[in-house]
Amino acid sequence: MTRIELAQGDITEQQVDIVVNAANSGLLGGGGVDGAIHRAGGPEILKECKELRAGPLQDGLPTGQAVATTAGRMPARWVIHTVGPVYAKREDRSALLASAFRESLRVADELGARSIAFPAVSAGVYGWPLDDAARIAVRTVRETPTSVELVRFVLFNDEILAAFEEAVRELGA
Ligand code: ADP
Repeated sequence: MTRIELAQGDITEQQVDIVVNAANSGLLGGGGVDGAIHRAGGPEILKECKELRAGPLQDGLPTGQAVATTAGRMPARWVIHTVGPVYAKREDRSALLASAFRESLRVADELGARSIAFPAVSAGVYGWPLDDAARIAVRTVRETPTSVELVRFVLFNDEILAAFEEAVRELGA
């Protein structure tokens, strides 16, 4: 059984096997969680991302997919970079957001990880409404078969934490 936990704080400080990065397709850094992870983890992460871009991911990481690198100087062992969709009013991209969580768990299983911390993917610069982003995140993790024992959502502020608490109440996670 996978345990789902909610925590407020900074994802870069989590003592888990994996921290998930809300990356962009380019994989070469950005703002928000992405910037924080590269700052905290140091240059080794960017180096591996550049190698991925030079090799298997020449066109970047497609939306909804996930790939692992070292976590550099962070307490975690690996970073899984995933790309959530940009929110769009006129198009339902929720399957891609669910895929970002599902694919991250699949890569975590490949690595044999037991614990993983997710940020609120797509709920920052990518503009996803918080309550919907939280429901998709919690529901997808609940419905995805995985050997990961602990999934911790690390939420950056009160508002996003409240949205996840509500989603957990609603879905009974
Ligand atoms: P996206 O581009 O997928 O929307 P962002 O990084 O802009 O990703 O934001 C995703 C969520 O992560 C937002 O709720 C943002 O407040 C939060 N966030 C930003 N920095 C951190 C951090 N260091 N730890 C955890 N969450 C963070």
